[in-house]
This record gives sequence, C-alpha cells and structure tokens, in this order.
Amino acid sequence: MPWLQLLLECEEEIPYGARAFKCTDCSNSLCSFYLHPHCVRKPKETEYPFHPNHPLTTLLQMPPIDESEKLQCIACCRRIDNVFLLHCTESECSNINLDIGCVFRKPAVKYQRHDHPLVYFEKIYLHGARCSVCNLLCDENLFRCYACNFNIHPECLLKPLKIIFDDHVHPLTLTSLLIEKEEQNGYYCDNCDEITDPLADVYWCKHENCWFGAHIDCIPQERITEVVEASSPQILEENLAASLTKLMLRD
Ligand SMILES: [Zn+2]
Ligand SMILES: [Zn+2]
Ligand SMILES: [Zn+2]
Ligand SMILES: [Zn+2]
Ligand SMILES: [Zn+2]
Ligand SMILES: [Zn+2]
Ligand SMILES: [Zn+2]
Repeated sequence: MPWLQLLLECEEEIPYGARAFKCTDCSNSLCSFYLHPHCVRKPKETEYPFHPNHPLTTLLQMPPIDESEKLQCIACCRRIDNVFLLHCTESECSNINLDIGCVFRKPAVKYQRHDHPLVYFEKIYLHGARCSVCNLLCDENLFRCYACNFNIHPECLLKPLKIIFDDHVHPLTLTSLLIEKEEQNGYYCDNCDEITDPLADVYWCKHENCWFGAHIDCIPQERITEVVEASSPQILEENLAASLTKLMLRD
C-alpha cells in the first residue's frame, strides 16, 4: 500500500454498508485498507510540475464507462481502474491523467541532455518503450520524463558525454545523429563497419571535416583513454543517491 502514509485517517468506524474507498492498488490480498470519502487527502498539485499550464483536479469517481475504458496514467502508463486520480479538465487534455501512485513521485535526477528532471520508475506499462540513448527496450528500472516520454536506463544515464577513444585523435561526443545531423539511415561505425541504429546515440567526432563515429558498445571502458566530460546527473532525491552511486562504482 504505497500511498497509505499519504492519506489521512480518522480511525473512526465505517458503518456497515456505508460508502468507502478501498485499496485496490495492492497485490497483498489480505490488505483491507478502507477510508471514508471525506478522509481522502486530495492532492492539489503533483510533486512534479509536468503540466504547468492548467490546474489539475482530483477525481474521486470514475468518469462514464466509455471514457474510463481508455483512462491511462500518463506517468506509468498503467490503465487506471480505481477512482483515485488527478486529471486535467481542459477538453484538449483528455490524456492528462495521473494515478495516485504517480501523483507523489518526486523528480529523482537531472540529466544534462534533457531539459526536465527525470522521475524513477520500477516499471512502466508502455508497450515498446525505448531508451533515448541506446534505443533498446526500457520499461523496467528506468528514469523518465513523462511530459516528453523521454526514457533512459540508469547505465545509459551514466555514459560519459565526451571521451578520448584509443583509436581516434579527437574527442568523441555522445550524439544523436538523427537530431544533430538529421541522419535518418544510420552511419557505418568506424570501429566495426556495421550500420548504427539511427535512433540510438553514437560516439561522434565533432572536429571540423572529420567524419568519425562509433557504436556506444564499440567503445568499451578499457578503450577510453580519457573521460573529457563525465555524465554527472544531479541527484534530486536522496533515497536514490545510494543506489545510483552503487551503479556508478560497479564499472
Ligand atoms: Zn474517517
Ligand atoms: Zn501511474
Ligand atoms: Zn491541460
Ligand atoms: Zn539505454
Ligand atoms: Zn521532458
Ligand atoms: Zn575526428
Ligand atoms: Zn560498431
């Protein structure tokens, strides 16, 4: 029951047959957590200002069935099937809904290559979610900006931004060729001669008239002779500092 502590309880008995809110968010079948409707704390704003232009409203009742069918949390992408949710009432914003588990998620890290802080998720329910750095599947243990649908593996978050590779004279920068060069077809890696995934980042030489690039995986740690610019994500949530530090020390 992750949001238990976030709700107010009065500990008064709920009369038999009276309306109450029951926890449905919990895999523990023995959980029998009930709240009076008036005891539910209504979250007024999210910890993460992802939708600053409109006020969000707490909904304590499901909208009509045909609308509730497609109700999905914009953060974790899970179907919303209990009544606790925060949503935007503006008509153009029917997709702006947050389930209660995500309302209280806090920004965890700030990555230099994305404008907004990222939130940590153990799992998201977005089919085919991809990491913005390596473009591999990324739906578990990830950092995410749900305003932009930007997802990233912790390992990818820590990839150095600028390095010296032992096989090239200039520094190489972690780059999206699609964004920076509008290169839609990929690039033949100068290390392995295989084509790169156009949606994945590469280590790229930005020296004038020098076309040199390589797959991220073609540049293992032992072939980096110098880290010119490390990725040093700013840790915004203390609890995450420990686990992220562990990950950084691992390799
Ligand atoms: Zn009560
Ligand atoms: Zn959610
Ligand atoms: Zn809105
Ligand atoms: Zn990745
Ligand atoms: Zn963003
Ligand atoms: Zn070069
Ligand atoms: Zn390669």
